[in-house]
Amino acid sequence: MKLQEYRSKEILARHGVPLLSGQTATTPEEARAAAADLGGAVVIKAQVLVGGRGKAGGVKLASSPDEAEQAAREIIGLDIKGTTVKTVLVAPAADIAHEYYLGLILDRSSKAITIIASAEGGVEIEETAKTNPDAILSLPLHPLIGLQEHEVRRVAFVLGLPADLRKDFATVLRGLYAAFIESDADLAEVNPLVVTDDGRLLALDAKIVLDDSALSRHPDLEAMRDLNEEEPSEIAAREAGISFIKLDGSIGCMVNGAGLAMTTMDLVKLAGGEPANFLDIGGGAKQDKVTAAFKIILDDPNVKAILINIFGGITRGDEVARGIVEARAALTRDVPMVVRIVGTNSEEAKPILAEANLITAESLDDAAAKAVAAAGAAA
Ligand code: GDP
Ligand code: MN
Repeated sequence: MKLQEYRSKEILARHGVPLLSGQTATTPEEARAAAADLGGAVVIKAQVLVGGRGKAGGVKLASSPDEAEQAAREIIGLDIKGTTVKTVLVAPAADIAHEYYLGLILDRSSKAITIIASAEGGVEIEETAKTNPDAILSLPLHPLIGLQEHEVRRVAFVLGLPADLRKDFATVLRGLYAAFIESDADLAEVNPLVVTDDGRLLALDAKIVLDDSALSRHPDLEAMRDLNEEEPSEIAAREAGISFIKLDGSIGCMVNGAGLAMTTMDLVKLAGGEPANFLDIGGGAKQDKVTAAFKIILDDPNVKAILINIFGGITRGDEVARGIVEARAALTRDVPMVVRIVGTNSEEAKPILAEANLITAESLDDAAAKAVAAAGAAA
């Protein structure tokens, strides 16, 4: 789960990272009031969960409340990479002498929390990685010892920070590390970390991505979720306890088990189709979950057919079959459905499916081919 910049900054500030905190606004008038309240020059920043807001016109400087209102009017409602801006952050503006990049990531290849740092900040790190990889320092930390003093010094040295700012830099890096650990993050980055004209070190932008699997330990962070930025179908799925990711194809998939769901999607592609989603209803799924899954899948108007692939272990095939038939009867929109059920009680499932006129398949290849054909015929 990604946190908005102003939320990420709240967390970093709690850990002592120096930054200029501001106020959020959802209307130009609120932005004007915030600017008047802060006094002096301010920066107005779109709060959306994508990078490159600056380039997209989502970051503007304003030297008066009038200008702040005008800037907010231009930014609120702006479409940035598919997301409409609803909220802006109004913060005191800084005079920048130099921009640095500083981040911590959970790096799966080094199997360690890793410091990423570069003296070429301000631009997206992925861009620097392509154009000038030598300008990036990547330093894996010991999983048990954590961040050590000599590592802090080394990063400050590689960045070429002025000597009198090394102590402040230690505060920034230690704070970033503490925030990362305490919030169970996958990523915590400050880009840019700046040295100002008057020689201060400040985090001007912040981004924290939390580990979804650890969110249950952080109800306070979970509450920071921005529903405005999530697919409504993905929100509904989370509430129903279903793993779901929306995709762009025409064949809806309902599968039990994540690995089986991936295989199902692969075979849909192999048969010449495009999956409309990843969906895992989980083990032992009963009718209520099947109903919820149908609704979520059919909410997508691109879906022209549904492929249901169930492997019965704990899950009993006849129960799923009955669940499918009953859930289907309650649907407002219907599309061809291809069902493959194997494993526990699959024989008992057959007559139930046949009676309901569902297309059945023996093998997964066969099921994928039938679903692709049905979607083509329906399109
Ligand atoms: P991003 O483009 O989404 O990463 O948004 P940032 O918050 O990083 O802002 C983009 C750029 O705007 C920064 O790299 C800075 O160059 C500039 N910027 C942001 N805040 C300020 C500020 O307070 N003063 C000045 N002069 N520039 C700023
Ligand atoms: Mn940035």
